[in-house]
Amino acid sequence: MAEERKKILIKVRRILVKIGSGVLTGKEGLDLDIIENLVDEIADFSQKGYQFVIVSSGAIASGMHRMGFKNRLQSMPEKQAAAAIGQGRLMRVYANAFAKHEMVVSQILLTTSDLTDRQRFLNTRNTLSVLLDWGVIPIINENDTVAVDEIKFGDNDNLAAMMANIMEANLLVNLTNTEGLYDRNPRKDNKPRLIPLVSEITDEIEKVASSEADPVGMGGMKSKVIAAKKVTAFGIPYIIAPGKSKGIIHDVLSGKKVGTLFLPMETHLTSKKYWIAFTLRSRGKIYIDDGAMRAIVHHGKSLLPSGVIKTEGNFNVGDPVSCVAMDGTTLAKGLVNYNSSDTNKIKGLQTSRIEQVLGSKPYDEIIHRDNMAVSNPVRKTADPKSKEST
Ligand code: GLU
Repeated sequence: MAEERKKILIKVRRILVKIGSGVLTGKEGLDLDIIENLVDEIADFSQKGYQFVIVSSGAIASGMHRMGFKNRLQSMPEKQAAAAIGQGRLMRVYANAFAKHEMVVSQILLTTSDLTDRQRFLNTRNTLSVLLDWGVIPIINENDTVAVDEIKFGDNDNLAAMMANIMEANLLVNLTNTEGLYDRNPRKDNKPRLIPLVSEITDEIEKVASSEADPVGMGGMKSKVIAAKKVTAFGIPYIIAPGKSKGIIHDVLSGKKVGTLFLPMETHLTSKKYWIAFTLRSRGKIYIDDGAMRAIVHHGKSLLPSGVIKTEGNFNVGDPVSCVAMDGTTLAKGLVNYNSSDTNKIKGLQTSRIEQVLGSKPYDEIIHRDNMAVSNPVRKTADPKSKEST
């Protein structure tokens, strides 16, 4: 196992480090020592040719501390106000810490609506790519002030999972205030054992990831494991590690047995399909028959009108829509070529009849395979570089 870990980590060059509020903040607000230690390590590895993007929480916690609030804030506007106070402070601390190494930082604040729009998604990617070329460290957080429930990433574990796709990271290190994932809840049970390696995120694994929320951050272990599912589906290894442990970045990158490593999936999604699967929210459902199900899931085919049984919801051309079996299982998500009304008119028909019914036939497929992400996890064992063929 130690060998497998090393084999994966040795190839890593572009790393997303997610730092949780529980790591960054202590009783006295932002913990400057911890931040400096992490920055020293990141600067050190950057000088050796590694590239880093940081997703950092801590804005709300820092703002709360500045205002002298002790208890968790309840309302959204209060949290947003605290973030507005804390975000600048957070950046100042990072900027000062990196300046000691003559390194420059940049701030990127995002909401999900920035990433569900393909153009804005690509713009974000281009910006990141220039910053990395310039040797600048991008520091990303949710744009808490404008994020409302509907467009919220929800927590920075999720934001980090999406960013790992955008920046095409080779590794996501999720630094938290626990040692990693335990086989039972360390806050409630005696003698929990750390799970060093997860090769498959089974129901069991999801169950042990406590749903108990982190007292400082937003997510707790549950959201870290949900994020692990997304990240590994993109073929990126994911590690949950103790952020307060001195030398942790070095330990992780040298393949030392720390934290919990989630292996990437063997067959994984391309960037665009990952975006469809995990960034976009489905606008409706298309129920499909057994033949279409086999064609999509097992034979890599597109969804044709002949396989459609019925639709649910109002969707427009280009919207993300789920393909669902009649028992309700979601099989895939993709961008539709026909709106819900036209899909209903041509459901069950051969493609040769589309023009007759609609007056024109812009596409043969309801959803083309290139714009479809199938929910068929296949786990990896060794080389994370194969992409799903289309
Ligand atoms: N964006 C929030 C903050 O900076 C953190 C969200 C989280 O902890 O996941 O405080």
